[in-house]
Amino acid sequence: MPMIAFKGLRGQLLGTMAVLLVILLAIFAAYWQGEEANHREMLSLSQSATEQLSRSELRRRGEHIAAELSAHLVPMLQEGDAAAINELVGDMVHHSNLRYLIVYDGNGRVLVSTDGLARSGQLMTDPLAAAVLQAGGRKEQWPNGLLEIAVPIEHTGQALGGLRVGLSYTGPDPGNAVIFEPIVRRLNANSLRHHLWIVVIVVVLLVVTGVYAVLLERRVFGPIRRLARLMQEDTPGSSQPLPELALRDDEIGELMQAFTRMRAGIAKHDREIRRLAFVDPLTGMANRLAFRQSLDDRLLTLRASHDELALLFIDIDDFKRVNDTLGHESGDEVLSQLSVRVRLVLEKFGAQAADIARFGGDEFIVLYLAKDIRAASARMAEALIVEIERPLAVGGRQVFLGASIGITLFPDDATHAGQLLKNADIAMYQAKVAGKNCYRFYSRALDRAVERRVQLEQDLRGAWSRGELSLVYQPIYQLADGNIVGAEALLRWQHPHLGMVPPVVFIEVAEQTGLIEDIGRAVLEQACKDASQWSATTAGKPFVSVNISPRQLRSGELPDVVSNALRSSGLIASQLHLELTETAVLVDEDQASALLSRVRATGVKVWLDDFGTGFSGLSHLRRVPVDGVKIDRSFVADLLRDPDDLALTTAIIAMAHSLSITVVAEGIESDGQCQILRERGCDQGQGFLFGRPMDAKEAARQFHA
Ligand code: C2E
Ligand code: MG
Ligand code: MG
Repeated sequence: MPMIAFKGLRGQLLGTMAVLLVILLAIFAAYWQGEEANHREMLSLSQSATEQLSRSELRRRGEHIAAELSAHLVPMLQEGDAAAINELVGDMVHHSNLRYLIVYDGNGRVLVSTDGLARSGQLMTDPLAAAVLQAGGRKEQWPNGLLEIAVPIEHTGQALGGLRVGLSYTGPDPGNAVIFEPIVRRLNANSLRHHLWIVVIVVVLLVVTGVYAVLLERRVFGPIRRLARLMQEDTPGSSQPLPELALRDDEIGELMQAFTRMRAGIAKHDREIRRLAFVDPLTGMANRLAFRQSLDDRLLTLRASHDELALLFIDIDDFKRVNDTLGHESGDEVLSQLSVRVRLVLEKFGAQAADIARFGGDEFIVLYLAKDIRAASARMAEALIVEIERPLAVGGRQVFLGASIGITLFPDDATHAGQLLKNADIAMYQAKVAGKNCYRFYSRALDRAVERRVQLEQDLRGAWSRGELSLVYQPIYQLADGNIVGAEALLRWQHPHLGMVPPVVFIEVAEQTGLIEDIGRAVLEQACKDASQWSATTAGKPFVSVNISPRQLRSGELPDVVSNALRSSGLIASQLHLELTETAVLVDEDQASALLSRVRATGVKVWLDDFGTGFSGLSHLRRVPVDGVKIDRSFVADLLRDPDDLALTTAIIAMAHSLSITVVAEGIESDGQCQILRERGCDQGQGFLFGRPMDAKEAARQFHA
């Protein structure tokens, strides 16, 4: 039996049984021993009784001989008749057992002896003879193999002599032993019976213990071990056959039934947990995990059937705005309303509800199977956009949203779930880049560009705090007298691997991802701080002009950001100019006008940058309150060659002056350009002709009076 078999409850019980068995066996062994000793003692008692009997018989005979002989010897001794004594003694010698006879006189001198050792006339020297003569009475002794009886021969109290009778003693008389035989037999039989009983009891005890141990093993320990194994191997949801143990009408059966109940409970909880793990609680749709699994399964069957499939990745545009402005509860409400709409569109297209999942905050993904999949999925995307575009009613307000949808096709674009999901994400990103609220199909050519862009976006996060972003300043001059009046702050990104990344590349990324809000705030603060160190020149206090992106304007926080930057730097408001592009202002003219009015009210000046490129028409200048315009460098570049550009530039200057606003020309590279702009009355200018963008230290030196 392996060692392990004696562990645990089983080991304790079997061990206790073994100890009890050993104790019982020891008791029986002791009893056996006692019985043996008893038996031996009885035998020796019977032997000594036989001996006693034989001795007393011999003694009686000796006494009888001695008494009879001594009575006959009295007259013979009185008369001194030695012949008669001899004759008498000779008659007696034939008595059985009689070994010798010695007759001696009152002085102890031997008269007759049948023993060859004692001669007539010799004195009896032994103490027994003397004792008899002196004290009288019968004396006896039992030397080896002999009974010696000495009696006085007396007459009227006077000792005439003595008689010694020697009888041979050869041990107990076999005749006497016969008397005890039945007793001994009885004793032996009893002892045997007792021994037999002990053997039987021990055997029965061993058998009962063995049977009990086997029963315990079969009925208790075995089933408990099986139950333990079953519990160990049991996993929720597995359908192991229920062992017959449950049918037992005892404690083990109860245990098994309890286990079965517990198992059912666990399985139920397991199902519940799985449901929670696979279902999005807000929309009741499958979640990313569940979708991924069903996509894997679907692709397996599709590979065999050669069918096509489309994945549509839907991202709600500017959903963050809903959360930020209306709160998260409204955000949830919007999402659940949108999920209903998406479901309805899917139903219209005959897709299954199970094929739609919520992937993250505002992302949904649809799995669509159809013939001519490209056209069908485009139709579905269009329908989804139309549905999502419809205003939503949330908390008594109308919310307008859009969706960017990326579509990827199986097996054209990819054959594996992971790659398909990545493609759909890239295509969605393309839709965002393309202006949002539209759909794009995944194309391999865009893949790399998007990847680079995604990488750039990741790198741009935290670039300011890592010190990779910095500001350079390009000086701006008064064209009439050539005096420096201010400088434009321009952002630079020294990428750790890519080197200098041009602002036209990364500003757009920052703009689209919303990173520009944080970066723009930092730029504004830094520019104000740097400019506060500049000294006044002959033209007065220099200004710093900071580029503001459309998104910064849209967020509505611009007036606060500006006043914070001014307060923390100590720069005077009139020393700060904000450059906004036409397009930024045009998106929502009313909001822009309101915000810019607030900013201008504090003394900060607002310029329209890249003026002329937006073809917005000069009429806007009347509606949007600005302090100046910057003629885009594309016009300045061709000023000398292209009469149209010259005409437009001249018109801009005239128009601006009629509105009393300043005109700045950018990108002046040659004297000719400078000359012609001065002639037309352009107020200020910047460009490589005067100076390239320079670092803050260099810029500060330019403003040293
Ligand atoms: P912008 O505001 O029109 O800036 C003027 C651009 O013209 C600058 O390019 C400047 O270096 C360049 N430039 C100046 N003089 C000359 C010249 O003589 N010849 C030529 N060929 N170019 C000249 P840059 O620094 O590459 O900036 C590009 C654009 O990036 C800026 O155009 C502006 O829209 C944007 N940007 C730069 N910094 C920031 C910023 O901090 N925030 C925001 N929102 N946009 C910025
Ligand atoms: Mg600018
Ligand atoms: Mg410009």
